[in-house]
Amino acid sequence: MAADIRAELRLKVEAMKAKGKRAPHLAAILVGSHGPSEVYVGHKIKACEEVGFTSSKLSYDVTISEADLLEEIDKVNANPEIDGLIVQLPLPEHIKADNLINRIQPEKDVDGFHPLNFGRMVQSLPTHVPATPLGIMEMIKRAGISVVGKHCVVVGRSRIVGSPISILMSRRRFGYPGGATTTLTHRFTPDLAHHTRQADILITAVGKPGLINGDMVKEGVVVIDVGIERVKDPSKKSGFALKGDVDFETVAPKASLITPVPGGVGPMTIAGLLKNTYHAALGDIYTREYHYHD
Ligand code: NAP
Repeated sequence: MAADIRAELRLKVEAMKAKGKRAPHLAAILVGSHGPSEVYVGHKIKACEEVGFTSSKLSYDVTISEADLLEEIDKVNANPEIDGLIVQLPLPEHIKADNLINRIQPEKDVDGFHPLNFGRMVQSLPTHVPATPLGIMEMIKRAGISVVGKHCVVVGRSRIVGSPISILMSRRRFGYPGGATTTLTHRFTPDLAHHTRQADILITAVGKPGLINGDMVKEGVVVIDVGIERVKDPSKKSGFALKGDVDFETVAPKASLITPVPGGVGPMTIAGLLKNTYHAALGDIYTREYHYHD
């Protein structure tokens, strides 16, 4: 599905260029040398190349001050040649992620983390929807999963995944599926299994490998595993393996559909980011027509 979205975008970019317009341009801020972050930014830049976008990796030393980074963001905001800007998280402790995110011009906030964009999402207004939830909604739509009236249980309430996906699944808008009865669970939820066993659609975004096992789901459940963590694995050349929140071996036999880790939500997140960047370049992010159902 992610490859399909990239192919669709590539055609759109070719059409833009044929009309004499420049390609969409995504910039990514990377601070320090955090291994997984370098890998994630690398994947995003490769995806940009594949669809014909321009991309810029803006790398800064781990010692850069927050004030200097804010100035760098101002430069990108003022640059008409750049459509989208993301700040790769996590950041060093002396820099507050919110301060950087809040400084990004909302039209260029293609991760959809800026309070203005998040607020517009909550109000069912056209906006940049956060990239991971957007990728998940695309996946559900393209897989033809029936959502209306189903029980969707979300595990994890982060601002980037759990909270926005619970809002999107309970609504029905943007031309995406929705209309589920949604339960949002988190660290303080007693008896998590009581909730996950009721799920027709289970979306996990926690970062605890194997948190969900086969005893915690019902037959036929649709499972979307957002979690992705490194665990030690001496059998691998790298010495580690990537694992989701779901124990695939015991859950997959009961599931009607399940996403793999790696290779499931990750590529769809990048597809969501590319879609947002494309619309930022078109300049229709706050005006384009959506199909509202709610
Ligand atoms: P996060 O900000 O750390 O949030 C984790 C959430 O899980 C929190 O809401 C936390 O509750 C909750 N939680 C912790 N322990 C729990 C438990 N035992 N039972 C139920 N809920 C529990 O993480 P995130 O940024 O959402 O990321 C979650 C995972 O998804 C990570 O592995 C991350 O790498 C991955 N991820 C993958 C992609 C992708 O593209 N594939 C994108 C984003 C994130 P509290 O709120 O109470 O602390």
